Amino acid sequence: MVSVRDVHKVYELGEPVPVLNGVSLDLQRGSYTAIMGPSGSGKSTLLNLVGCLDRPTTGTVHVDGVDVTTLDDAKRTTVRRDKVGFVFQQFNLMPKLTAIQNVALPLVFKGVPRAQRRERARELLERMDMSDRGDHHPNELSGGQRQRVAIARSLANDPALLLADEPTGSLDSETGARIMGVFEELHEAGNTIVLVTHERPIAEHAERIVHLLDGELERIEELADASPDEDGGGTEADYRWTS
Ligand code: ATP
Ligand code: MG
Repeated sequence: MVSVRDVHKVYELGEPVPVLNGVSLDLQRGSYTAIMGPSGSGKSTLLNLVGCLDRPTTGTVHVDGVDVTTLDDAKRTTVRRDKVGFVFQQFNLMPKLTAIQNVALPLVFKGVPRAQRRERARELLERMDMSDRGDHHPNELSGGQRQRVAIARSLANDPALLLADEPTGSLDSETGARIMGVFEELHEAGNTIVLVTHERPIAEHAERIVHLLDGELERIEELADASPDEDGGGTEADYRWTS
């Protein structure tokens, strides 16, 4: 589904800042991958490139066989709207829109009629246990509630590729477990998932962990058991890391 080849990313801030130094990575359709690494190691930068939000300085990113690095901005945006769901580390909700309107926004771009958009948005908010906050604006929501709105929005276009940057960062363990349960369902339904996390027990929900260090792929760890919550999940026990 995604093929990243020898990607370098240098930010130009007067001084060039090298952030990714030759990363190659393949994401099979239907795979479930976690990315871990220290703060500043390039995790969000890599996710942005895979999600067609940014372009590498050199190297290529293919999504469904299309080299998105050579597409113009409009075409890249189309790929993103059709195929990608993105949960931003800072949520990036629109402050003037309500929770429902934020979740429905990707469907506005796709031309889905209003009634259908609202129905889908309500359904997604309910899945996030946020039914009673649909008419609130982001500044009227807690951090964890904003995060759940951001996750609901990322699912609105039923994305083949879901990219989530610290999706459980602001959540208590029970709500985090609920979100991981939703991701597990999406994985079982055949979606391709990549999640960035600092929390090892969260990463262990995936099939493999990609470790980034100083802008390089340090190693890929294949996990034997891809579903640590076989016993039903949703409890504190999911969050205990047993090695
Ligand atoms: P964290 O765990 O803290 O979220 P990260 O692994 O996601 O870290 P990135 O956000 O990818 O790290 O940033 C990697 C490096 O790139 C950092 O040193 C950061 O300062 C730099 N960087 C990120 N975005 C930009 C930008 N737009 N312009 C300049 N430098 C940037
Ligand atoms: Mg980050």
